[in-house]
Amino acid sequence: MGYIHSVTKFLGPLDIAVVGCGVAGQAAATLLAETGHRVTVYERFTQPQPVGAGLLLQPTGLAVLRKLGLAHAAIAAGARIGGLEARTHRGRSILDLRYADLHPLAFGVGIPRAALFDLLHGRLLKSPAKLVTGAEIVDVDKTHLVEASGARHGPFDLIVAADGAHSALRARLMPHARAPIYPWGCIWTTAPDLAGIGAAGLLRQRVRGTRLMMGLLPIGHGKVTIYWSMPMRALGRSKTIDLEAWRRTATALWPEAAPIVDHAAAAGDVARATYRHVALTHWNAGPVLFIGDAAHGTSPQLGQGANLGLMDAWVLAKALADAPDLLAAFLRFERRRVPPVRYYRSASHLLTPFFQSRLAPLGWLRDAVMGPACLVPGLRTMMGSTLAGTRHGWLSATPLGDDGCFPLDA
Ligand SMILES: Cc1cc2nc3c(=O)[nH]c(=O)nc-3n(C[C@H](O)[C@H](O)[C@H](O)COP(=O)(O)OP(=O)(O)OC[C@H]3O[C@@H](n4cnc5c(N)ncnc54)[C@H](O)[C@@H]3O)c2cc1C
Repeated sequence: MGYIHSVTKFLGPLDIAVVGCGVAGQAAATLLAETGHRVTVYERFTQPQPVGAGLLLQPTGLAVLRKLGLAHAAIAAGARIGGLEARTHRGRSILDLRYADLHPLAFGVGIPRAALFDLLHGRLLKSPAKLVTGAEIVDVDKTHLVEASGARHGPFDLIVAADGAHSALRARLMPHARAPIYPWGCIWTTAPDLAGIGAAGLLRQRVRGTRLMMGLLPIGHGKVTIYWSMPMRALGRSKTIDLEAWRRTATALWPEAAPIVDHAAAAGDVARATYRHVALTHWNAGPVLFIGDAAHGTSPQLGQGANLGLMDAWVLAKALADAPDLLAAFLRFERRRVPPVRYYRSASHLLTPFFQSRLAPLGWLRDAVMGPACLVPGLRTMMGSTLAGTRHGWLSATPLGDDGCFPLDA
């Protein structure tokens, strides 16, 4: 990633468009509007809404929510998570990580996506930012946004593209950017925790080889989000998902979770998810800066995407506040965001086939090596900090502060 070009305007209050009213877009728009810029958010849906079930907020994402005054509400809306535990179908431990190994007060939060969305949306609506819905942005003409209908908006000094992993603006403005779809995705849903699995306050996973994987994330109020790995070819819109077959396989993999799976299969309300591995060589095309999944979508194996998007938003607002001009702001932004994003994208990409692929030997290797690796002190710290989102490279991580929180301005 690297080169910034054709942006020279001196900073004062800027006219900024944010495309996409998701996690990254809403956080960025709120922070930018509250630091004096004139911000308008453009969202394709008439009624912006989250898609999917629940997600895990890491100390990094929680630190940004704290700055937005939303951390307490997020914790109240979700469940405190103490760590990650993954076992094979035979009960062999392959991952056993705790945030407390990094700091006794550290934790993650499992939260329904709808709750996170509502918190960010309420905050956006209270900020000076404007929101334009039902606007599907498909192109940028110099400093103007162009809707699918042909309508134009602008001019803008800065356009923040936060239109998600399948970004139309990335496809249009960076046609050579790599963003392949992973061969595996998942179905996910939320169900009552009828088996008490969330009581331990852990994100728990069960695997068998590399083809079967189920995750259960407590998200508060007696509920868990279920993730079930599936190959892409079974997830196409035209494919029917056989929930009875899923129920049988999932309960055989994890008998203890049967009451939860039975309930979810009967309810039938599962969403499909596919992921992209997005790798940009530049984060910007002229005045258009990509953030969130549009810039660095990954598989959700490490539970970082929303947290990375929140961090992008914070760092962008800070860079614009501190830099003398837009070029310097872009450089500051890239300098801080490229290392952690590169690490998480690579680590996610390397790890995913060990959990989701047809390569059985990777599953044998995982089962043999990962459990013991979690017990080796240096490796355990590295894996724990990877989970917590605090790494900015293979060799370095930001230590948590005295209060167990991620120090945003370190
Ligand atoms: C199964 C699964 C589990 C996950 N678990 C976790 C987890 O535990 N922790 C974690 O941190 N992350 C997790 N993630 C990743 C996380 O969901 C994403 O990284 C995050 O939602 C990305 O936020 P974003 O704002 O960049 O994009 P999005 O949330 O996708 O928002 C993009 C917005 O842009 C809008 N938009 C799109 N195109 C246009 C257009 N042309 N014009 C106008 N608007 C447009 C969309 O409607 C949407 O509102 C998971 C993802 C999946 C699929």
